[in-house]
Amino acid sequence: MNRARRAQYLKALGVTRWRDRRIVSKADKEATTPSEDSSVIEANRTTACSTTFDELALEAAKCTRCALHKTRNHVVFGSGNVKASWFFVGEAPGRDEDRLGEAFVGRSGQLLNSMLFALGLDREDAYIANVLKCRPPDNRDPGGEEVATCESFLHRQVALVQPSMIMALGRFAAQSLLKTTESIGQLRGQLYSYEPFGIPLIVTYHPAYLLRSPLAKRKVWLDLLLAQRSLI
Ligand code: URA
Repeated sequence: MNRARRAQYLKALGVTRWRDRRIVSKADKEATTPSEDSSVIEANRTTACSTTFDELALEAAKCTRCALHKTRNHVVFGSGNVKASWFFVGEAPGRDEDRLGEAFVGRSGQLLNSMLFALGLDREDAYIANVLKCRPPDNRDPGGEEVATCESFLHRQVALVQPSMIMALGRFAAQSLLKTTESIGQLRGQLYSYEPFGIPLIVTYHPAYLLRSPLAKRKVWLDLLLAQRSLI
């Protein structure tokens, strides 16, 4: 990863100054002023403090920032390979996910597994998360406030995984990640960038929609092919 990109990730994680230890020569090190040195230590400390999944997951597990915490059984933080190239983003946990604490384990999850299979991937090869970490009661749509309150978790997960491709599954994921109100029909079929990281992003239909409209599977396949071609 180039230094500019890395700096973007670190900035999003709250690290404002960072210096790669591997490229500090001995002479350079000796010439380093105490204040520079402490900023390097501070940056590394901050990175270490704020970049572990465990800490972020713990923060989410304790979250009471919106009313959904009152009705949830589990916080569904996300799961998979934390070094994955592919990062799939759904909407919110459903009943099964809320019961088990894992994203996409119900019927939609089976269809997501098929999408992964079509790409030659297992679940362990990808990272899977949702925009909302808690289930909206009765599977209602996520509220705008809930999305705004929760999105920093997803943002920091992306910063930690540093994937090569984000697949936004369905309208809520697409609109929330791209900060748009355009419909999924308008958003599909193009390559976007998730900012500020500049990570390629493709929008496709949510697996739950495919359960209702199996004919849309062909379009999803085209979206997956576009994503595969666009991998960085
Ligand atoms: N739908 C989603 O968007 N996410 C899940 O985890 C399950 C169903």
